[in-house]
Order: sequence, then C-alpha cells, then structure tokens
Amino acid sequence: MERTKSKMAYEEAINYIPGGVNSPVRALKAVGETPLFVDHAVGNKIYDIDGNVYTDYCLSWGVFLLGHAHPMVNKAVLSAVKRGTSYGIPSLQETELAKLVRSCFPSMQRVRFVNSGTEATMSAIRLARGYTGRNYIVKFEGNYHGHADHLLVSAGSGVARLGKSSSAGVPDSFVSQTIVVPYNDEKALEQVFQKKGKEIAAIIVEPVAANMGVVLPKEGFLQFLRDITRKYQSLLIFDEVITGFRLSVGGAQKLFGIEPDLTAVGKIVGGGFPAAAFGGKSDIMQMLAPDGPVYQAGTLSGNPVAMSAGIATLTELMKPGFYEELNTKVDAFERKIKKAIEGKGIVLSRIGPMFTLFFKEGKVENFSDVKQTDQERFARFFRYMLNHGIYVSPSQFEGNFISIKHTQKDLDRFVRLVRDFNE
Ligand SMILES: *Cc1c(COP(=O)(O)O)cnc(C)c1O
Repeated sequence: MERTKSKMAYEEAINYIPGGVNSPVRALKAVGETPLFVDHAVGNKIYDIDGNVYTDYCLSWGVFLLGHAHPMVNKAVLSAVKRGTSYGIPSLQETELAKLVRSCFPSMQRVRFVNSGTEATMSAIRLARGYTGRNYIVKFEGNYHGHADHLLVSAGSGVARLGKSSSAGVPDSFVSQTIVVPYNDEKALEQVFQKKGKEIAAIIVEPVAANMGVVLPKEGFLQFLRDITRKYQSLLIFDEVITGFRLSVGGAQKLFGIEPDLTAVGKIVGGGFPAAAFGGKSDIMQMLAPDGPVYQAGTLSGNPVAMSAGIATLTELMKPGFYEELNTKVDAFERKIKKAIEGKGIVLSRIGPMFTLFFKEGKVENFSDVKQTDQERFARFFRYMLNHGIYVSPSQFEGNFISIKHTQKDLDRFVRLVRDFNE
C-alpha cells in the first residue's frame, strides 16, 4: 500500500503546523508511522489522498456512531448552513437539542452547550467549585478530561497523592488542588475523603475509562463514588464525552443506573461538529451566568450548524432498535475475537460498541496495568492492520469504535486479521 502523497503532505504540513498535526496522537508517533491525509470519508470507510481505502475503527475518536457523512446529518447541516452559520443570538435549534439531550439523560435537567469536551469538563468543574464553595477535585489516574490546566495531571502508580502536571507550562500551583487516585481503587479514595472530604468539590470520572484504552469500572465502583460523594456532600461529575450516546442512548449512567450531579457529553452529540455540553440538576446549573455567579461563555456555543448536526444524529440513534442492532453485532464480534486471541498474549476489553485489544497477559483494571502492555508489539499490530486496510486507534491508550455501518463482514475480516497476526 503506497502512501507517497500522504508522506509528502506531512512533510509540507510540518513546516506550518507544529508536528504537522492539530492534535498530537494524529501524528502516529507511538506506532512509528506518519499520518494518513484523508481525502473523504463515508460510512465506515476513509479514503486517503493516495486512493487507499480503510475501514475505520477510530471514527474520529468515537464521534461517528452513525458512520461518516450520514445522509440525514448532511441534509440537516446543508440546510442549516444556508440560513447563516452563527448568530450570537439564540436559535430554536439550541432548545431542540437540549430537549433531546435531556430526554436521553434525565439527570441533565439543564444543559449548556460549549464547543469541545475540554470546555464541558472545565466548566463543570468551575461550576462544582462555585456551587460547593470548595476547591479540591478528585480525578483518576489515566482518565482524560480534555486539556484544561488543572485536569492535565497524572500521578505515580499505587498511591494517591497530590497531582503533578503531565504537561510543561502548567505551574504546580494550578494543579495543587487536583487529587489523583488510581482508577477502581475504593480504598485510596476512602483515604483521600477521610483526610480532605470536606474540602472536595467534586469527583470527576470517566464512568467507563476510554482514554487509557477501554477499562471497565469494577462491580460497585460507580455506586461507591455516588455514595462517598453524597456522604461528604461533594458532587459527582460523569465525563461521558465518549460514553454518552455510545454505551446506550443515556450513556453509562443509564447502563449502570447511577445518577451523577453533573454530566459532560461531547463527540457524538455534535454530529461531527465542534459541540459538546454539560448539564445537571437545575439548582446547580442555576449557579451559571447569567442567573448565577459562575462565569461561562462562548462566541460559537450553541452554533446552529452544530446543533442541527446534533439533532439529526440523536434523532437517528433514538429510533427504536438502534442499540439492539448495534450490540447484537458487537456481541457476535466479541465471541469471535475472544477465540482469535486465545494464546496470543492479548486481552480484550469491551463494552457496547467500544473495545481495546491490550497486548499483555492478565487483568487490566487501571493505568498501571495498561502501562505494562507491549507497545512495540502494538505498533506492529497497528501497521499490520493499516497495511490490510484497517485503521485502528493508533495507541494502546485509546479505544476502538464500531458504528452502525460496520457490517458483519467487516467485523469478521477484523477477526481474521487478528487471528492471523503473528509479528
Ligand atoms: C475526547 C474527550 C474529552 C475532550 O474532548 P475534546 O472535544 O477533545 O476537547 C474529554 N473527556 C473525554 C472522556 C474524552 O474522551
């Protein structure tokens, strides 16, 4: 498979754009490749500028549950564009999408639209701090909530400790009120709350972690978060930017039956446009400007084109049987792939239409487990799949996604390639 034009395009891009990309993982450094440049994408296929076709298991990081360029979404977008692309004045589409979001996520009694998942979690945290009058937040190691300063925090494995930023350019003081705890570790969390509980504004969590590869919450873990935050009158924030509308129409909170105080959604809700949202109980949301003292704003927030894409997307996936069809397909895929990886030193971690193949033996319950994966072998796997026309997410620390457009035939081919992988 030739990628000459992509290689040339990359050589040119790096003269103008740092690293040639506008988001770091796209550079494919972790897998020893250079990026593809996409010409167009339809359904579950992406077409690069060299004329190669790939079945897409990254789907713009989980955005395209309906597949790329869905006809109903495109129709809605084109009609919106003709009526002007931004007003800075309210439009009916904003209320319409807010209604749809709330009907899927009843815990989001009020919804504020923003432009990215980063903004949604950043604003939810500011709101939680404003509402509780407390400063500390708790996050989990390996959970990603976008790139706001105080959330770019990692921590050593095993012990909970005050965060140190994982990025240069973030003063230690900015992250001094972010406490990092290993995912799925109730004991560590209990200790943190015993010490600091009355100063903790909120726990923010990916209810199913999907930014260290897909890592499931242990049985009872989410309920434990709900209980301990109630006990200490802290808020529970679910970052459902990936899981929202993907694990079920009502995200992870519906699937696991846990009601958080605040929720962030993104990716799918924007239908392929830069839109995300946060929302929650109305008495908390009332603290936001203009009703309350917590400031939050955006020139393009609630953008009519993005709202129209979101409305069309949610309308499609709210149709009866949508998730049944999707999950039946993926259940069969799971059974087959489990067989294909037997004895290969690979662990499958899957929930609904998202999964990671971890190149290691044994359990994967937290970030330390993920760090034990064989990165070199994964890189070979990525290149092998790419050369067979399959684009998987280019890192062990990312999930793969399946859309309604992936056919049984596509999935069977994926399984066969995994079975035959021998490098
Ligand atoms: C993608 C993601 C974000 C950040 O969203 P952006 O739109 O990239 O800013 C936040 N949280 C989670 C769980 C995500 O997967």
